[in-house]
Amino acid sequence: MNETKEVRVRFAPSPTGPLHIGGVRTALYNYLFAKKNNGKFLLRIEDTDRTRFVPGAQDYIIESLHWCGIIPDEGVSVGGDCGPYIQSERKEIYKKYVAQLLENGCAYYAIDTPEELDAMRKRLQDEKSASMQYDYINRMSMRNSFTIPKEELDEWISSGKPYVVRFNMPANEELVLHDMIRGEVRVNTSTLDDKVLYKSDGMPTYHLANIVDDHLMRISHVIRGEEWLPSMPLHVMLYRAFGWEDSMPQFAHLPLLLKPDGNGKLSKRDGDRLGFPVFPLRWPQDMSQPEIASGYRETGYYPEAFINMLALLGWNPGTEQEIFTKQELVEAFSMDRVSKSGAKFNPEKAKWFNHEYLIRRTDAELLKDATPYLHGYENMYDGLTMERICGLVKERLHFVKEIWEQVHFFFEAPTQYDEKAVAKRWKPETPAIMNELINIIGEMEVFNVESMENTIPEWITSHQYHSGNTYNSIRICLVGEAKGPHLYDIMEIIGRDETVKRIRQALSVIK
Ligand code: GLU
Repeated sequence: MNETKEVRVRFAPSPTGPLHIGGVRTALYNYLFAKKNNGKFLLRIEDTDRTRFVPGAQDYIIESLHWCGIIPDEGVSVGGDCGPYIQSERKEIYKKYVAQLLENGCAYYAIDTPEELDAMRKRLQDEKSASMQYDYINRMSMRNSFTIPKEELDEWISSGKPYVVRFNMPANEELVLHDMIRGEVRVNTSTLDDKVLYKSDGMPTYHLANIVDDHLMRISHVIRGEEWLPSMPLHVMLYRAFGWEDSMPQFAHLPLLLKPDGNGKLSKRDGDRLGFPVFPLRWPQDMSQPEIASGYRETGYYPEAFINMLALLGWNPGTEQEIFTKQELVEAFSMDRVSKSGAKFNPEKAKWFNHEYLIRRTDAELLKDATPYLHGYENMYDGLTMERICGLVKERLHFVKEIWEQVHFFFEAPTQYDEKAVAKRWKPETPAIMNELINIIGEMEVFNVESMENTIPEWITSHQYHSGNTYNSIRICLVGEAKGPHLYDIMEIIGRDETVKRIRQALSVIK
């Protein structure tokens, strides 16, 4: 590659449904590569296959990238000087290029009906033929520019009957291709078929549109999923057929994302079947429709955690570091650290990443995040105390939405007492000890963590009370179970009166 060539990469999804997390990772690697190399990241919509078009999918893709912070520099919804960036709006452009290939003999017309194509496949199967595809051998027994007189074919086409244009794949050429991740890839062209490039409805197929657009949009590197590796020889041949070899992009085919057990590709169909989302946002986005598949956003992931997790599925920084800001990812990213082998998706690790981002939020940020889950109690204490409550429990959370479970006792007195905890900790002598504690609390000059630290442990040791049972019994009184953050923090926050009230309440209920 010419070293001075500007780096321009593109994410080119087809709007055939919601974007799968593998697709988001492809977009992310493109983005990181572009930013690392002071280049541009483009978003192009490849919607030439109208039979697979799904309404809403394009908006979903744009919104997903936006949520992830993978913002295109150019393309659909942004603009740029290579537009339009939606392939169905570029039909006129492809016409010219397909004509060029027909002209120079790199492509030809074929008019076989679907039935004739089925019959071909069946015949080849029955004959146990070495080649099962429409290629340099089998094309000779089909209906196309090689087998039908030109006038007849011209008449067929001008009368508006259906046809396709196929690539004229030459026989027996040894192609030596280079992939940035896989290195050298060798293919003999005799193993390749004459792919359809264009249809008489005026629509190009993926292959033609993709190459023409990558060329016209001055794409320098094609970074995409491994499933496109088999298309690379045809794509290289197309560059050659157009005479664009000098400006051909470099290719990088990313490893597959695998199911957690490593058995096969993580697919869109896995939906929530495996217990975790495979889509960035819920699908469909239209909230008036029932949810079909859950999304990372709605599950409560921070977008920064989500992309950090995705970045490490198939790439490693070569160090032990796991937590990266987006800017750190940009700086650390390099294609030579992208692995060839598939990356197993680990749902537990995904949650771990979210936890790591959650604990890095300041208490004030966390309070803001948590407010929708505080059941209207967000102003029960002053702001600083509310922040402190959030800070006290953040280590226990994977997602902010889990917070109520950890903080409810700051706002509401327990109405029940965990039977197991009571059976284990509440001894015949406990009521007397709790009554003594009420007195101690009443006598404390100030009621805060420090004063409790100076009083309560000493009281317990001097009377030789069982410390585990005593502390847990206090907890049972205040929380309802033997759980929660540091006891003195709970007591200070709910306050002296409420502490005493809860102990009395427990004494009257627990028998
Ligand atoms: N439209 C293709 C897809 O849906 C893009 C493949 C490519 O990047 O060349 O993945």
